[in-house]
Amino acid sequence: MKIRLEDISEEPTRKSFAATAEAVNDRLAEGRNEAEEFRLSEPLAVDVTYYRAGDDLYFSGTLATKLQASCARCLATYALPLDAPFQFVLVPEGSGPSELEPDRELEADDLALSFFSGPEIDLEPLCSEQAILALPTRALCREDCKGLCPSCGVDKNTAACECTGAAPDPRWAALRAWKPRASS
Ligand SMILES: [Zn+2]
Ligand SMILES: [Zn+2]
Repeated sequence: MKIRLEDISEEPTRKSFAATAEAVNDRLAEGRNEAEEFRLSEPLAVDVTYYRAGDDLYFSGTLATKLQASCARCLATYALPLDAPFQFVLVPEGSGPSELEPDRELEADDLALSFFSGPEIDLEPLCSEQAILALPTRALCREDCKGLCPSCGVDKNTAACECTGAAPDPRWAALRAWKPRASS
């Protein structure tokens, strides 16, 4: 969704829109998601409120979608709902942090700060980026997932195996979690 700068006033405006799952997934694929740990299975619903303070533009709201994630330990695919608040500030390109007043440097630490140029703001990539930032650092089907046996590959959440005698080398588990997974 694009907003013309002239339509952003000091009076907060609230809007809702959706970014397609494909658009966000393409963005995910460009970033850290090489192993396809996360994929949106529904559009990204954005509820955003924005206003201007001088030349700076403030955005905040909520993001909601559903993802398919594949567990970094056991490789199981599971549904991951995302429902997260976000906020960011856009300042005109050319106004570097050094030009910010001291109290605004503090703000910059708390709020994601980026730059804009041109006559309009495209919210879709900005909000997609916020959604990606809101994802967990690792996909885990559950906090205490036991993962796969590094020797025989059995899913230790659902079955026991005979390999317990030999202490598994943790490096194998790391390798297993690492290797690119075929999308299922
Ligand atoms: Zn798991
Ligand atoms: Zn085993």
